[in-house]
Amino acid sequence: MNTDFGLPTPLQCRPLRERFPAGSQWHGSLADWPMPRLAELGIVCDKAEAGAVLFPPSKDPQAPLHLKLTLRALTRSPCGRCTDDVAAEQGWEREFVLYSSGDQADAALDLEALADPISDEDGLSLGDLFEDEILMALTEPLRHETCIGPMQGVGSEAPAADASPSEPTQRPFSGLADLLQGRQSKD
Ligand SMILES: [Zn+2]
Repeated sequence: MNTDFGLPTPLQCRPLRERFPAGSQWHGSLADWPMPRLAELGIVCDKAEAGAVLFPPSKDPQAPLHLKLTLRALTRSPCGRCTDDVAAEQGWEREFVLYSSGDQADAALDLEALADPISDEDGLSLGDLFEDEILMALTEPLRHETCIGPMQGVGSEAPAADASPSEPTQRPFSGLADLLQGRQSKD
């Protein structure tokens, strides 16, 4: 098996097809891969066990390539309320279809339910795609279980007027939505 497939590999249809006519796979850590967008948000990805499978291309040179990513990792990200680190596990498997043109990928967007269409025009490497997916799994700031109430984290939106802590009226369920939201975002 060709072992050149790895995090720096550009996700470009034709070169992948030529270099890996029988497909390829990679398994390893993300420790040495720079993830500047995660770093900017204060997110650290620890103990990552990452894997990628490039499926053998079909005989049709116009056909897209299929790619599967798996990740098991611990992330630490700033709590949405107190901004101390919150640890969370990430464990996921994602499938992608790589098209040479962005138009093809856009056209496939409605049709492909299980796999996300991407294209050469996205200019991604395999490592970039991992960073994208880790970010997607953390679209909302996580919170400690004890950190309920309006978000106060850096860069978060101002609390809605009706969620203000100075609101004198008793609102027995005012924290419920936040609790539920916090629970969902830990999934
Ligand atoms: Zn907190």
